[in-house]
Amino acid sequence: GSKQAGKSRYQFFDQQARQALLEATRIEAELRTALEQGQLCLHFQPKFQLHDGQLSGVEALVRWQHPTRGLLLPGAFIDIAERCGLMGELGRQVLSMAVAQCAQWQAQGRLLNVAVNVSPSQFSDPHFCTEVLEAIAQAGIPAELLSIEITESMAMTDFAATAARLARLRAAGVMIALDDFGIGFSNLSQLSRLPLDILKVDRSLVSALGTDHRADAIVRAIIGMAHALSCRVIAEGIETEAQRDHVRALGCDCGQGFLLGRPVPADALAAPATRRDAAVAVA
Ligand code: C2E
Ligand code: MG
Ligand code: MG
Ligand code: MG
Repeated sequence: GSKQAGKSRYQFFDQQARQALLEATRIEAELRTALEQGQLCLHFQPKFQLHDGQLSGVEALVRWQHPTRGLLLPGAFIDIAERCGLMGELGRQVLSMAVAQCAQWQAQGRLLNVAVNVSPSQFSDPHFCTEVLEAIAQAGIPAELLSIEITESMAMTDFAATAARLARLRAAGVMIALDDFGIGFSNLSQLSRLPLDILKVDRSLVSALGTDHRADAIVRAIIGMAHALSCRVIAEGIETEAQRDHVRALGCDCGQGFLLGRPVPADALAAPATRRDAAVAVA
């Protein structure tokens, strides 16, 4: 009967929840080992200026070279790291690998800005700024070669502390980017008082361009606001030429996405600093 079906459905969900918990517990244990044994590495995704196709920097994206399951994406372990208190260590390793790579490029004569994603728990750690500035000093790179990417919700959680932290980093020369912009519930008036250099328009808005006229209006408004606040705008997740042309026409400064370059290991990052097809104007 239906009561029986209902019961088995509960058992099914219960089973699923148990599986998920087991999986998370296993990943947590493996992640501890990964952090001890240095199984994490970085891939770098290029960003390009849309008016001339010049490389404007790269974003460091963490990867886990798992001994048996291959290369894992952050979606498989970042949330777990955040929940079980491993994010601090993970974030320190990411930062240290990012500035070391940046220094290596600098030694080769390539001044390439490297952007690092920062998680909520990392950013709220009172030692965060000091750790960032120490990592820069230790690597021997100018602070201008590092960007940190935070999200709207992180910026809004403790506004006064956020503003103070960003001001300290920015005073040292670090660039500040607001990631995944346009999908949160930001207080724009507060946001405008943060020292931001870059707004990154979320991929979901970029992918809706051309099919949803509201996306056009929103992206146009974001770009207008960003420019009025002297921020540069990066469109995330550009997958088609139409999207690239569209964000360029709306006044976007830079682009990032699979069309222009996927995340790759440092040594696979193409040598030429310019991709002709990243610029609309170039045939
Ligand atoms: P994010 O910071 O917004 O990074 C962009 C994500 O979109 C990356 O996924 C990138 O591979 C993907 N992407 C780039 N271009 C395209 C495109 O054209 N199409 C599609 N479908 N996707 C594209 P990834 O590497 O899986 O990272 C996912 C998220 O994990 C990041 O989103 C970021 O929030 C987080 N993350 C990555 N690395 C780190 C890290 O070192 N520390 C922390 N705290 N978070 C990280
Ligand atoms: Mg990012
Ligand atoms: Mg993003
Ligand atoms: Mg994103």
